[in-house]
Amino acid sequence: MIVLVTGGAGYIGSHTCVELINAGYEVVVLDSFINSKEESIKRIENITGKTVVLVKGDVRDKDCLRSIFKNYSINAVIHFSGLKAVGESVANPLKYYDYNVMGSLALTEIMAEFNVKNLVFSSSATVYGFSDNKPIPETSQLSPFNPYGQSKRMVEQILEDLSKSDASWNIALLRYFNPVGAHKSGMIGEDPNGIPNNLMPFVSQVAAGKLKELSIFGNDYPTKDGTGVRDYIHVVDLALGHIAALKKLNGLMIINLGAGAGYSVLDLVHTFEKTTGIKIPFKIVNRRPGDIAIYFADATMAKEKLGWQTKYSLEDICRDSWHWQSKNPNGYNT
Ligand code: NAD
Ligand code: UDP
Repeated sequence: MIVLVTGGAGYIGSHTCVELINAGYEVVVLDSFINSKEESIKRIENITGKTVVLVKGDVRDKDCLRSIFKNYSINAVIHFSGLKAVGESVANPLKYYDYNVMGSLALTEIMAEFNVKNLVFSSSATVYGFSDNKPIPETSQLSPFNPYGQSKRMVEQILEDLSKSDASWNIALLRYFNPVGAHKSGMIGEDPNGIPNNLMPFVSQVAAGKLKELSIFGNDYPTKDGTGVRDYIHVVDLALGHIAALKKLNGLMIINLGAGAGYSVLDLVHTFEKTTGIKIPFKIVNRRPGDIAIYFADATMAKEKLGWQTKYSLEDICRDSWHWQSKNPNGYNT
């Protein structure tokens, strides 16, 4: 079975390619490398010992998509490609709607043209917005509050409508919580540009001495230690969730992919210190605007419908993040 992976060179895409290949799938990657490096494809090949077919191109380019579907007998598509920086989406919403919405429209149009109707789509827990539910089930109200989140919800809506219009489509909308960690080989991982916005890569770079100290955004939230609580999911668990979804594709499925447990910023910092033996200096600063106190998944549906649940712990996450960081101090440029 051949799977087209758009954005397959990126953080989640590269880990999913490895797990797809391990599970016996053939993989065709489409990536423009706007937010990744070709080196990640070489590393996927190194880890798996298999060749990855790589098409350098843009998912919004319908001719490029047509040539892929003509050249390869694609059975299903996992659609990761898109932009994901919330702040940039607020500053440049048109770019986000173009990449994320127009890219998904072009892809589904060409899939329909070639009668390939099996699709797994990368959505995000951000579609829930300021949810009061703890944990958050898939039935929660949706209220994304930035253009990035809106673009994800718009694509979800388009795919829901598509599924209603033509029952032969099989679509999984996967809402990820906080993907973190790296492949245990330390060969692939998250390679953010500049100073990381997210907690885990920031902590790793403090541990490596690249950044002086962590700023913890607020310790006055209504949580056990006052710091924000999130659902951290190991990227390999997330990758395996995609394979579970691919195997179970049938009509429309909307599923949270999270561990179903919340950890605070201080939980993560202390676990990182315990696992790696490295002290993480930190200071408490003001809350980050737009942050939510507690956000974690109700992961029951994934277990029931996909037979999937996370198997990696916060310790595994910290160990593997540090392994990747210490082996690749400058990411794929190392
Ligand atoms: P990433 O930026 O590492 O990967 C995205 C990949 O898509 C990159 O390799 C990039 O070069 C490629 N790409 C972007 N636009 C493209 C285009 N128009 N044509 C071809 N390739 C293009 O991001 P990631 O963390 O791996 O995220 C993958 C998907 O999961 C994204 O859609 C993202 O919105 C979603 N998601 C990510 C997170 C997260 O925290 N990482 C959380 C929820 C959802
Ligand atoms: N956080 C922090 N310092 C940082 C980055 C993040 O204290 O430098 C906190 C943030 O306030 C949130 C948690 O860590 O409570 C996770 O933040 P991240 O940006 O990784 O994920 P998101 O908030 O998008 O879920």
